[in-house]
Amino acid sequence: MSQNTVLLPEHKRVALVAHDDRKQDLLEWARYNREALSRHFLYGTGTTGSLMQRELGLPVTPFMSGPLGGDQQIGAKIAEGTLDVLIFFWDPLESHPHDPDVRALLRVAVLQNIPVAMNRSTADFLFSSPLMAGEYERQKYDYAERLQRNRRIDI
Ligand code: PGA
Repeated sequence: MSQNTVLLPEHKRVALVAHDDRKQDLLEWARYNREALSRHFLYGTGTTGSLMQRELGLPVTPFMSGPLGGDQQIGAKIAEGTLDVLIFFWDPLESHPHDPDVRALLRVAVLQNIPVAMNRSTADFLFSSPLMAGEYERQKYDYAERLQRNRRIDI
């Protein structure tokens, strides 16, 4: 494995988040995919996580509720490389007090090049991929040179 890749294990660490009006959608998707989800380690923001644990009967490690910092906790885990996949059904018809946290979470997921699904069809494609069931070498981008180029001062 090259230094520029991170090995995503067979049993991945999957974060589940849904805004209130998308929770039903996520729940239906998760019920249908319960078997596939059961092969991974699940994490979730407070309300989403407890809903999933109760309805699926699978263990879900809880973070704080999204509006109280749960999105930021998940973002931090992605940044440090301890979450592998993000399923985030955010609500395109509503704004929220924690919209900056949502944006930050999606930003860091792109930055770290982790698989992200924001709606059911993408989540279906993701979970039906053979890459989900096996190991995968995730490319790690080296942003150091670009950051250095953009700096006004040398440190
Ligand atoms: P919740 O948070 O699971 O605690 O509802 C989700 C969110 O709003 O980001």
